This record gives sequence, structure tokens and C-alpha cells, in this order.
Amino acid sequence: MMMNHRLVRRIAAPAFSLFAWIAFFLTSSCSGSLPDDRQSGLSRPPRYVFLFIGDGMGSAQIKLAELVRGRKPPLAMSAFPVSGTASTHAVDREVTGSAAAGTALATGRKTTIGTISMSADHSADFETVAEMAGRRGMRVGIVSNVSIDHATPACFYAHAASRDGYYGIAMQMASSGFEYFGGGFAKGALDSGRPAGLLLRTMRDSGYAIVGDRKGLENASQGKKYWAYGDYDRSGALGYRIDGGGDRLRLADFVRAGIGLLEGERGFFMMVEGGKIDWACHANDAATAAHEVEDFDEALGVALSFYRRHPGETLVVVTADHECGGLSIGNAAGGYGLHPELLRHQKVSFEVFSGKVCSWAGGGVSFPMALDSAKAYFGLGDVSRDFLLALSSREKAALKKAYRASMNGGSGGSGYGPDPLTEALVSMLNSKAGIGWASDTHTAVPVPVFAIGKGADQFCGAYDNTDIAKKIIRIAALRD
Ligand SMILES: [Zn+2]
Repeated sequence: MMMNHRLVRRIAAPAFSLFAWIAFFLTSSCSGSLPDDRQSGLSRPPRYVFLFIGDGMGSAQIKLAELVRGRKPPLAMSAFPVSGTASTHAVDREVTGSAAAGTALATGRKTTIGTISMSADHSADFETVAEMAGRRGMRVGIVSNVSIDHATPACFYAHAASRDGYYGIAMQMASSGFEYFGGGFAKGALDSGRPAGLLLRTMRDSGYAIVGDRKGLENASQGKKYWAYGDYDRSGALGYRIDGGGDRLRLADFVRAGIGLLEGERGFFMMVEGGKIDWACHANDAATAAHEVEDFDEALGVALSFYRRHPGETLVVVTADHECGGLSIGNAAGGYGLHPELLRHQKVSFEVFSGKVCSWAGGGVSFPMALDSAKAYFGLGDVSRDFLLALSSREKAALKKAYRASMNGGSGGSGYGPDPLTEALVSMLNSKAGIGWASDTHTAVPVPVFAIGKGADQFCGAYDNTDIAKKIIRIAALRD
């Protein structure tokens, strides 16, 4: 039903004044909770700057992660003294993508969908905060748990008309001169026909040491430039946190190593991306997304420990490039009922479970056996754990239909990978938990911003994503 605009304004007016008061108090508490900064003033810029980007991480994703964590302490980012929100639109689309949003966060300027730190017409490169920091003598680190040539990290060191030119983007790591690249491998060097050897050789010729395991990362020492990566999948990304993996290197390890490599008189700028929150949200997999937010927050905890050792000279900013999935906490099926604890029964990501289902396609796994797997990996049908996990005959019939489609080689409706059975199971558990999804792509809702440390109070309020880079440039005195 469409609402009359004047009516909306009349309803919105008192709400706005309430909002203004809330904003006033928030602003007051923002500046009041930063004694370090008030004492030192902004006369000397922070020596150390962290920019954390949760890809696809809206406010709902953060809340979801806290609900799924249960009684554990709240996420580190939730305890930041300063918060704000940022709009995310691109030049040519209200609902942005990671390249255009990454460009805004990296350069303070808007561009078109798919463009990596270049003008909308691709006629000019935009200088990035990382490049500015490097030019001013600071050390620079770029960290992501997806491939290092993916859109978000690329926006800080590369310039490209299309984010899909992965190989050319990866090659620009070598000419960046940045001291540290950490996390994923290069997708461009894994795509067929692209020689990984040439990329690795070019990196080595440009003075980079390349390490691919924990021992190598822990032995890395200052005085060299590094590209460090962990166990990666065929897209160059590290695995989902929910899928475990024992001693596998995670985002937090790469942040810890980066601090060791970059700390010193010259100071540093470090960008850290949690890239797979977005991927889990594209697949509408709430449990996996919650674990990814937690993984990102754990990496943030490493930066916060560093901040506590250098409170008067460190700035930490956390934000997202965009929301993904239109995640809602509370759904039409459950009304006011919310049972996020049910998501703890999910033991693997949609990706890993879908891999299992695909391996059944040759036959030998009957529908009852598939239901046993659903019970083991999603808790669905296991009323001994929770009666809310019971499957009705209608739900069983829906799963049987999805099972048949998967056995016949069908792909899921979302287009983001999972087969029909996996998609149905994830969706069913989400629905019972009270989780809703409005989309399998990004949305235009503003993203949260959190800040702590030197100059953090500048991040209070509502602004555009380009302002985040502009604020960092101003606070850290990166522009000549
Ligand atoms: Zn995305």
C-alpha cells in the first residue's frame, strides 16, 4: 500500500526530533568516551591506522552474530565508543557492489559498479589512502580472507576498469611497493590459462618474499616485503570459519603477522577485509554468516590489543562496503518469535554440505539417509535437541522434492552455488530460527561505522561512504 507523502512527513516529524535527541546524546557520548584523544588533540596524526571492512556486513549481520554467540562477551566492534552510519550508493546504481564501494572507502570518491579505484569514465586513476600513506613513508598492509585480487583489497592497491580483470589486478601488487599482502591467494592466477608462476616470479623480482604456511608467516621478519597466504580454495579464498580446519591460518593470524611486520617509527596503514560474510549472505546462510562476522571480529580483536598498547597514536575504523541479503532478525513465519540458538545446530557451511550432496548424485544415498544427514549437520528433525527442530509432513515433502532435484543435478534458485536440497535445508533452519532474507544480492541500507582511538570522534553521525576515506585522509594527514 502506498502512503501519502505528506502523511509520511507528519508521522516522521516527531520521530525525527526524537532521533535528533538520540543523535545528540550519542554524539555527546562519542566525544566523552575518548580521553586519550582529548588529551593529545589532533595536532599529531595517528601513527597507526587500521581500516576494517566487513564485506556485506550490515547492522543485522552484527546482531545476528551476537545472538548466535549467545552468552559469550559481545563482539569487540559493539563495544567501540564511537559509531555512525554511511550511505553506500555507486555513481550508476543505488545498490552498490564491492568495487564501487571499495573505491569510495579507499579513495573518498564515487565510481561506477565494477570499477576499481578509477573515475567513472575510466579516464583517470584515483589515488588510494594506502598509496597516500605509502607516499608519506608509512608502511602499508592489505589483508583479506578472500583472494587478494578480489574487489575490496584490489581497490586499495590497484586501478582497473573492471574488477573481473583479476590477473592484471594481482600483477599490480608487485608495483604497489606495499610492504605486506596477507590472506588469500590470487584468483587471477588460478583461473585457467593464467600462469601462477609468472605472478609469483614478478612478485619475487619486485622484492617480495612469498610464504604459504604458518611457519613461514611466523618466521617473517621486518626488512622484507611479503605476500603471505593460507590454505585456499579454487577461488583463492580461505575456508569458512564454520567448517573448522584445525590449525589453518585465519584472518586474525594475518593481522597479527602484519602488525609485527609493519610496526615501527614510520607507522602504518592496514586494511583488513572479512570477505566471506558477503558470500554467506548471498547464499542466505545465516549460521555461516554469523561465524564469518565472528571471525572478522576476532581479527579486529588483534588490532584492538595493539591499540591498547598504543592508544594515543592508533586509529581503528570498522565498517562495511554494503549490506547483503536484506537480512532480517524476525520473520513473517515466526512473528515476534525468535530462536537464533537453533542456528548453532548447523555444523557446516552451505558450500561444504552442497559438496556432500553433489557427491551423492551417483546414487547410493536414499532420501531417508539424506534426512539423517540433515539431522546431523543442521539438527533438522532432531526433536531430542529441540522440539522446534521437528519436521512437519509438508516440510519433509518439500525436502524430498529438493532431494530429487539435487540428485538430478539441479542447481539452487539463488544462483550462488548450493544445490536445491542444501538450499532447502539452510532456508528451513533459517526460517525456524526467525531469520528472514529479502534478497540474494546486496541492498542499499546504510552500513554501520565504528571507531576508536586518535581522531575517532570524527566518525560520529550519518554520512556517505566517501566521507570515511576523507576523514581518514584528514585525521592521518595523508594529503599534501
Ligand atoms: Zn557481494
